[in-house]
Amino acid sequence: MTVDLGTRLRDVVGKAAAAALDKGLGLETVGDLLGHYPFRYAQRGEQTDLGSLQIGDEVTVVAQVRASTTRELPRKRLKGGKLGPKRRLTEVVVADESGRTLTLTYFNQPWQDKTLSPGRWGLFAGKVGQFRGRLQLTSPQYQLFESEDPESTDVVEEFAGALVPVYPATAELPTWKVGKCVQNALKVVADPPDPLPAAIRSRQKLMAYAAALHQIHRPESFESLGAAKKRLKWQEALVMQAALVRRKVEAAVEPATPRPRGGAVLEAFDAALPFELTAGQRLVGEEIAAELAGEHPMHRLLQGDVGSGKTLVALRAMLQVVAHGGQAALLAPTEVLAGQHHRSIVEMLGDLARGGELGSPPEATRVVLLTGSATAAQRRATLEAVGSGEAGIVIGTHALLYEGVDFADLGLVVVDEQHRFGVEQRDVLRAKAERPPHTLVMTATPIPRTVAMTVYGDLETSRLTELPAGRSPIATHVVPYTDQRWMSRAWARVREEVASGRQAYVVCPRVGGDEADDKGDDDRRPPLAVTEMIEALRGGRLYGLRLGLLHGRLDADEKDRVMRAYAAGDIDVLVATTVIEVGVNVPNATAMVILDAERFGMSQLHQLRGRVGRGHHPGLCLLVSEAAEGTRSRDRLDAVASTTDGFALAELDLEQRREGDVLGAVQSGTKSHVKLLSLLRDVDIIEAARRDAVDLVAADPRMRSEPGLAALVEDLAADRGEYLEKG
Ligand code: ADP
Ligand code: MG
Repeated sequence: MTVDLGTRLRDVVGKAAAAALDKGLGLETVGDLLGHYPFRYAQRGEQTDLGSLQIGDEVTVVAQVRASTTRELPRKRLKGGKLGPKRRLTEVVVADESGRTLTLTYFNQPWQDKTLSPGRWGLFAGKVGQFRGRLQLTSPQYQLFESEDPESTDVVEEFAGALVPVYPATAELPTWKVGKCVQNALKVVADPPDPLPAAIRSRQKLMAYAAALHQIHRPESFESLGAAKKRLKWQEALVMQAALVRRKVEAAVEPATPRPRGGAVLEAFDAALPFELTAGQRLVGEEIAAELAGEHPMHRLLQGDVGSGKTLVALRAMLQVVAHGGQAALLAPTEVLAGQHHRSIVEMLGDLARGGELGSPPEATRVVLLTGSATAAQRRATLEAVGSGEAGIVIGTHALLYEGVDFADLGLVVVDEQHRFGVEQRDVLRAKAERPPHTLVMTATPIPRTVAMTVYGDLETSRLTELPAGRSPIATHVVPYTDQRWMSRAWARVREEVASGRQAYVVCPRVGGDEADDKGDDDRRPPLAVTEMIEALRGGRLYGLRLGLLHGRLDADEKDRVMRAYAAGDIDVLVATTVIEVGVNVPNATAMVILDAERFGMSQLHQLRGRVGRGHHPGLCLLVSEAAEGTRSRDRLDAVASTTDGFALAELDLEQRREGDVLGAVQSGTKSHVKLLSLLRDVDIIEAARRDAVDLVAADPRMRSEPGLAALVEDLAADRGEYLEKG
């Protein structure tokens, strides 16, 4: 039988091992197994810091045996007074390069003491425990490195190379069992065909696919390992970019209903606008207007810092579509934001939002809000207005797209502040209409180029770089939580703002009132909670002020009521979680106190403070934290306090985040195809792969001349489809 990447594992590694690989790691085929790459490579004498082990961790460490002894333990006395069985304890002391030690213990396995002889290096895996103040592993599994003594035969398992692959493993499947299965598979598998086009391979000097698979699992040297990784990353990047470029090219030829520039309602709106558009708004507005007028759907990402006026740009695009008989949907990530968009758009439009009412201008349209909290009768009336086309602008969360809401003629979909609105969701949308609507995705989170190229790789991008004139500056300060003087001053500042007729926010990381959301992952105290903080403030520092509570667990009606009351000035201080992070716009709010500020990311803090200083009065943001000076947490807060450049903070933030968090933004259908590639560090590969993908697809849209690559691109698309069906 020939073994290839599609062969079932049970035919190669045996039934039991195959079952364990499937159950523990979800690996079913030889290709799955060979795609299960080591996450690091251990070496004899490598730097393992035994001093940094934490009790309870499952660890795999490289260490050298220093001493091993076996002794009899006193026999236990059983109930009837008889002596229990003999017990023998083997204690093996291992050390890292710097001489820190760890004890391994085995009960009644005296032979371990022979095998684990002093001087031997190996990998030891187990759960870190503690006995009489010393760290230890109880009955750890291990694999010894090749003995330096050629005569030695007491070897449990040998390594050929100097670099030992360490695999993501499970308790039943330690790294070397996975490794053994991999080696068995590598021995019998036929060299797979190379999916990378030969021209790219030779231009980039990339090693062949088969060689790369061997080298990543059984590297001869760091050089060959590096070359293997580069080659496999290239493949990931090219498949991903080819899929995105192909989507973009295909979407660009789909038919759309042209909505010419201008139109009565847009012109009336522009004429009544109380301010000048910024240069950026005009430029981006032009780009969008031209695309809406075209015969193919627009797919555009609009980036701009909080308050840069994206919503206005979007509203003008919506009006262009409405002016030509189409409808526009505005999707917000939360009901609070949807409600707020509704209010502010109705206000901005004035009479132009009174379509169908007596005495309204002839070009006026209707703006409706669809939320989960409407009564059945309200909902029916709203759906009717949407279905008849009477409602030109429809605002809601993106549930709106899934819930069988029928539009008369959906011409434009605007997605606000939704980082999770990826390729898959856009597909749902495309399936909605006979003629795909134009799409505009707006985000205030600055997205570094390579991430944009990946997450939004099928979109054109525009950026608003300036804030409208007359914006007030926001002063940000770090306030130590434990310093009573500072804290008194902070709350006094809030009272002063309220006394002069303005409003404030107090932000906490947690809702509270529920044990389940205590982040018990470390020994810090639980983060401060809004439900507790509001009570403390009501009876203490903010006594006598009108406080409101807002968090994600309130029902939609209550959220809406609170937001309205705050916007109307009936609440002085809003105590809230990050539900206010995006888009909430109350220009009279001038102060924000963020408690436990170190628990938020830098970009998130920046987003949060963007809620103040939106009016004519200067904004104040206080970052309250226990983080001591000189710690990394404190440095991050100081960075936020020192600049208002959201893009700079996003880049800093990204450097500090783990890759997984970044990839979290990529849809899960894509994630399984990106194993080695780093969206942060492999900028050069991603950009070069993008250029090659553009050329490939331009020359041969179906990639017929590259069947191997085409098949991988199809796989990626199929996995995305599967993800969609799972919902
Ligand atoms: P974003 O959505 O980018 O955060 P918004 O569109 O909500 O920003 O704009 C924030 C505020 O600035 C709104 O009150 C809006 O009316 C106002 N605004 C928008 N464009 C301008 C402009 N060119 N000049 C003055 N104010 C503007
Ligand atoms: Mg906004």
